[in-house]
Amino acid sequence: MSLSNATTHAFLTQQQPAVETDAIIIGAGPAGLFQAFQLGLQGIRAQLIDALPHVGGQCSQLYAHKPIYDIPGIPVCTGMELVQRLETQIAPLQVTRHLSQQVQTLQALEDGRWQLGTTAGAIFHTRTVFIAAGVGAFVPKTLKVPGVDGLETGQLHYHAQQPDMAAGRQVLVYGGDEEAVAAAIACSADAARTVLMHRRDSFNAEPAQLQKLQQLRGSGAVEVLIGQITEVRHGNGRLQAVQWMDGEGDEQMLAVEQLLVYQGISPKLGPLTDWGLALERKQLAVDPATLATSAPGIYAIGDIVSYSGKKRLILCAFHEAAMAAFAAAEYLQGSKPLLEYTTTSARLHAILGVSH
Ligand SMILES: Cc1cc2nc3c(=O)[nH]c(=O)nc-3n(C[C@H](O)[C@H](O)[C@H](O)COP(=O)(O)OP(=O)(O)OC[C@H]3O[C@@H](n4cnc5c(N)ncnc54)[C@H](O)[C@@H]3O)c2cc1C
Repeated sequence: MSLSNATTHAFLTQQQPAVETDAIIIGAGPAGLFQAFQLGLQGIRAQLIDALPHVGGQCSQLYAHKPIYDIPGIPVCTGMELVQRLETQIAPLQVTRHLSQQVQTLQALEDGRWQLGTTAGAIFHTRTVFIAAGVGAFVPKTLKVPGVDGLETGQLHYHAQQPDMAAGRQVLVYGGDEEAVAAAIACSADAARTVLMHRRDSFNAEPAQLQKLQQLRGSGAVEVLIGQITEVRHGNGRLQAVQWMDGEGDEQMLAVEQLLVYQGISPKLGPLTDWGLALERKQLAVDPATLATSAPGIYAIGDIVSYSGKKRLILCAFHEAAMAAFAAAEYLQGSKPLLEYTTTSARLHAILGVSH
């Protein structure tokens, strides 16, 4: 799966039939995942959208294998384990996910609902929106050299995880992290030529992967070049070659048909600040009692929000998810929802698919 659609392509104007729903959650980090659970308990079916090809936000992207010690009731777990537990918790709710796409537009409809548009061209009509966008959408750092803008689509790929475009092609994998090494190994199986280029002859990957790379370098299946791309050359939009600078500072040319770039992924607030919602120092201003933003039916939780005393902690985001779900249930149903316990409520047992 490639992140390129979510980032480099312009917002597609091609209209698809709108997805109709009661609740959209923007961001599938820990806050967004638990928001889906809390909405589920209120009987509100939500759909999740995230720019990443996987759920988990910062937990899976920035510290998947590092320990967290301050989740209530879990003395220690890694970022990835927490995400897996949240996934298990929401499994009975069968929450639809729309991954690898960034929400670009948010507009009010005349009937009081909201319309969202994503970089994948999807359109959503929803009565409520929950913005759990954290520190922003995780998008890949793009290649900023002359010639990139003129390329047709389908030849430049950012953080492609299962490269399936290499067969019979001259492929250049650009980067030095685990994903770049894995891509070079995968491409070497059926590419006409696989080149792995990095600033230095040192790669950041698991020992088994590094050993495999060494083997493939030895057999000539993967060629490693030490240097940096300085220009992309194309003819009528078709990628033909890259100009690159080697360790000695000399410019060289390399024929390339498919360019796979792995320069890291970083969060960007992106279009969110243009949606007309009240902001406080680039964060969404909310009422801490309801997590309501300045627009009716739009709530925000987690790292993206600002209110007096706000702490950017996962446990605070979990509390906010519960408060927002109660507020949204009242907004949608017109009356205050009852507070029911998961221990004793038959209604909640039915929602969660548990029996006593
Ligand atoms: C190294 C590190 C260690 C940490 N350790 C702890 C800890 O021990 N305990 C603790 O409580 N907290 C810890 N934190 C903080 C914690 O990770 C954050 O508070 C938490 O991730 C916030 O969750 P969130 O869901 O609000 O945002 P995020 O985790 O940032 O998730 C937001 C998601 O929204 C998506 N998104 C944003 N905008 C859009 C858009 N327009 N369209 C589509 N998708 C979008 C992003 O791609 C992302 O996946 C740590 C953070 C770091 C970096």
